[in-house]
Amino acid sequence: MVDCQMNDLAIETRGLSKQYDRQLAVCEVDLQIQTGEVYGLIGPNGAGKTTLIQMLAGIEEPTVGEIYWFDEPVRFDQAHFPLKRRLGYLPDDFPLYDDLTVWDYLDYFARLYYLRQPHLRRRLEEVLELVQLESKRNSLISTLSRGMRQRLSLARTIIHEPILLLLDEPVSGLDPLSRQQFREIIKVLQEAGMTILISSHILSDLAELCTSIGIMELGYLVESAPLADLYQRYPQQELIISGLDDLDTLAQQLPHFKGVDTYEILTEKKQINIQFYGSGEDKVNLLRSLINAGFSITEFYTQKQHLEKLFLQLDHKQPS
Ligand code: ATP
Repeated sequence: MVDCQMNDLAIETRGLSKQYDRQLAVCEVDLQIQTGEVYGLIGPNGAGKTTLIQMLAGIEEPTVGEIYWFDEPVRFDQAHFPLKRRLGYLPDDFPLYDDLTVWDYLDYFARLYYLRQPHLRRRLEEVLELVQLESKRNSLISTLSRGMRQRLSLARTIIHEPILLLLDEPVSGLDPLSRQQFREIIKVLQEAGMTILISSHILSDLAELCTSIGIMELGYLVESAPLADLYQRYPQQELIISGLDDLDTLAQQLPHFKGVDTYEILTEKKQINIQFYGSGEDKVNLLRSLINAGFSITEFYTQKQHLEKLFLQLDHKQPS
């Protein structure tokens, strides 16, 4: 049996490309995903995310290039049963069977993976609890909300206890609450040690979740890095100042201070948002000076830049 946890890289691709007739869907992708990561794959519609994920899942053969799962080369003329059993793949359009109950649906898939009693029953209970669908176990799938259906799909994807999850746009079309619920489940799965690749065309869906992000454009992987590295490369923070006084007068002072880049006055919130790249000392100096100048400051804090803003600053490698 392969001990997948022993290796550092859960997924690696080298020069991976996929050509459909005249359409080059994925171009020379070199991807590395470390074991235990939540890797966010971001890109607009048509960027090649689905095609890449299908190749990683071993169901779409690359035109050229190599794929490795836990250091083992994936060969498309081989079944790879031991490794495939450890993979969970959630496609973006997987059908649910409306006439089945939640329990019967999961039971069906568990049996496909040869789960046997009493383990089967225990596992179903476990995943139902994880995806918060215990109360729906006897409900017909046709009666579930969109968010519940998506959580059920996730339950089906993990029923056989995979260690590598490939999730294609799992939160697309969900309302904010359902997205949040889904993200919380992903966090639990990561804490349980799974390596997870999750795609989305919306960056903010993945911001709080991912340890690394990859950005696809026109089939190319134009960026791929740990989130912490990106934040380090672009150390600018957002500094929030709220005050009781006339914020326009306060804002006029700002350009004199070290570390202040641009700023925006949010009049209704009585708040100024500053793009700040200074040190801790620069921050202390700014706060002290504003107070000494008589401004009544009610809030003064920094927060990490939104991933969207960070993304706009990235110096994308352009495909040649
Ligand atoms: P979306 O977010 O819309 O799903 P995506 O980033 O997942 O987009 P893909 O679905 O991988 O992108 O598509 C990448 C490109 O490959 C698109 O131009 C698409 O039209 C093309 N493509 C994908 N599958 C096929 C196919 N089976 N035959 C021909 N062209 C295809």
